[in-house]
Amino acid sequence: MSEDVFGIDLGTTYSAIAHMDEYGRPQIIQNRDGQNTTPSVVYFESASNFVVGQEAKNGARVYPDETVSLIKREMGEKNERIFFDQPFYPETISSLILKQLVTEAQEATGSTSSKVVITVPAYFGLGEKESTRQAGQIAGLDVVGILAEPVAAALSVGITSAQDKCYFVYDLGGGTFDCTVLRVTQNAFEVVATDGNRKLGGADWDEALFDLVLSKFVQESGIDDDPAADPEFYQGLMNDVETAKKTLSKKEKARLRCSYEGVQAVIFVTKEEFEAATRHLLNETLDIVQRTLDAATSKVPGLNIDEVLLVGGSSRMPQVAEGLSSRFPWPLRNTEFDLAVAQGAAIYGSGVQPAVSDGDGGEGSAAPADDLPMLGSGQEIVLDGRQVTFTNVLSKSVGVRFFNKKTKEHYIGFLAHAQDKLPVHTTMTAFTIEDHQTSVELQLYEQSGEAESQEVEHNKRITPEGVDPRITGLPDLPEGSPIELTLSITNEGLASLHAVEPTSGHELTLEASLSTMQPEELEQARGIVSRMDISI
Ligand code: AMP
Repeated sequence: MSEDVFGIDLGTTYSAIAHMDEYGRPQIIQNRDGQNTTPSVVYFESASNFVVGQEAKNGARVYPDETVSLIKREMGEKNERIFFDQPFYPETISSLILKQLVTEAQEATGSTSSKVVITVPAYFGLGEKESTRQAGQIAGLDVVGILAEPVAAALSVGITSAQDKCYFVYDLGGGTFDCTVLRVTQNAFEVVATDGNRKLGGADWDEALFDLVLSKFVQESGIDDDPAADPEFYQGLMNDVETAKKTLSKKEKARLRCSYEGVQAVIFVTKEEFEAATRHLLNETLDIVQRTLDAATSKVPGLNIDEVLLVGGSSRMPQVAEGLSSRFPWPLRNTEFDLAVAQGAAIYGSGVQPAVSDGDGGEGSAAPADDLPMLGSGQEIVLDGRQVTFTNVLSKSVGVRFFNKKTKEHYIGFLAHAQDKLPVHTTMTAFTIEDHQTSVELQLYEQSGEAESQEVEHNKRITPEGVDPRITGLPDLPEGSPIELTLSITNEGLASLHAVEPTSGHELTLEASLSTMQPEELEQARGIVSRMDISI
């Protein structure tokens, strides 16, 4: 049997880890607290100690400045935090979660494997996926695969490629919402369309319930200042409303105890009140379902959804199934909700062939950009003895910065669009601005907002740092001379732009820069994390 590969669902609010048991079934590995999921919360106790999980989450109310939650929302962004005089980026903080999950899983299973498959939302862009891979590398793990969460969820319920069906994966987690149309054909899992909102999830339902409970408390107790301004009250009630929300998935009424400056009250919230206070959030998810369906049917006319897979802890709320059934005619299938993705990642990990695995988890992390290991290695894996291919769509549009002579402004011209099937190979012709132009500058951009926008500031520059992005030494050309551009994006989502001036043959190839961390920062982070111990 091949070496154990841990499947990790690195979630916004909760994470989970699984492996294949001796019977070849995916098995969630409980953490030290005996729980299936671990809050993705990190508490920095000292320069050399950290705590991840429920204890960190509970401590957040006492140590708000030393506690970090929802870090997944910052993946791919350069947000530095300082704890005990040391710099921590989103990748470093995520690496501590990974380190704890794997350490506990190794303890529980007796396995010494450091091979992992980590899942990401299907709509994560290039940079976010690379950040996730780097988080694994910083933790000293061998990342053998980066897998889209909806695909993992489908694998978890035993969907195999022996059939020909189309699934809609509705994944409402703690902090992200992910919609995917997944077509499963002979030997292939194909993401047809994907969409979502990375800032929408159970935490928003918690906030709405918080506001509801707070207004009842203020009204009933007659307090005239704002208890929510008190961090201790805020954190305490935040934790309690999450429990109450889970109660309302099973019962008609939940009871909460509020206490502020000696004033105490018991507050009751009904399921009906909760659903009314969160209807706008549910409707937002349903609108995204429609948008995803429209994108899928415009690509594959006549596409028919056979079944909806309900994934993510928040899909346990009855309002989700009710809302979907009221707007769409599709049959619904429950998965293991917050455990499905980790289970699917373990199944995927079991199929990754040693030859396919890139084995880059260790020393390769400081490699120069053009040497970077490709994302999502193991796009072809063996499942149930069959070679299975996984294809995805581009999650964000990619383009080049051009200049509009009329408006005298820069804008982004897109060569590849979100939802284009990968791999992408597209060409276009651009033109020089003026006579005798000796160089052209090429800047590669990726859409950063939810929708494509030509405004430069709505996009993220992904031209690599430290590289001259210009073709120089052009012959004497008149204004409007052509420059041929070719954008290629691999199955793994790695983009490169090739530009050539046809008369001279002068050319340039730019690989998209995926990392927000520089090699030396990555090395430093690995050093910091390797010296940090998990507090027990
Ligand atoms: P996930 O990211 O998939 O682990 O989902 C975590 C989210 O699911 C958190 O916001 C939890 O509060 C929420 N959740 C878990 N169980 C339930 C439940 N029974 N009812 C409502 N929400 C839940």
